[in-house]
Amino acid sequence: MEIVCPVHNNGDDIQKISAIVKAGISSGSYSGPSGGLFQAGGQTGVYGGYTTLGGGSSTKLADAFANPMPSERSLGLPVILIVISGYLILKGRDPYDVFAHALCMEPIGIIGVLVGIVVFVNTFLHTQTLPTKLEEWERKKKILERLYYCHRDDIVFDPESKQSSLPDDWQNVFTS
Ligand SMILES: [Zn+2]
Repeated sequence: MEIVCPVHNNGDDIQKISAIVKAGISSGSYSGPSGGLFQAGGQTGVYGGYTTLGGGSSTKLADAFANPMPSERSLGLPVILIVISGYLILKGRDPYDVFAHALCMEPIGIIGVLVGIVVFVNTFLHTQTLPTKLEEWERKKKILERLYYCHRDDIVFDPESKQSSLPDDWQNVFTS
């Protein structure tokens, strides 16, 4: 399958985003020739200049490539935090434990339990939605790997879905 730009219908002046991002990481931005001939209404003209997949867009793309795979999180850590904090509350409530009072163990324990509950619920919800998140991550990764940039039209496009977008809004290609 020959890959062509969906705007100028040609394979010239296009480049794989993954290659640009790699080049951009070393140089900060990538620019390429965008000059050429155009024909409109029987007239031929010349357009020139460079389009640049500039800092902002290439950084966002590089970030998207670096986006780590969603992974499992342990429910054990918040449970341990809740148990230890519960112990601190009990110690802090002991009227004979002057040491525990001096160290404010009860309020610290209460904060610990609350934080532990929030982390537990958050981790639990993450675990429940993990398969969906993984699927979405893989879908985007696949699209990202096949994206192209057209230097002539300054657009990012997906050769498979033919979806194209301005570099700054390149995430639109995911919605197709
Ligand atoms: Zn083009």
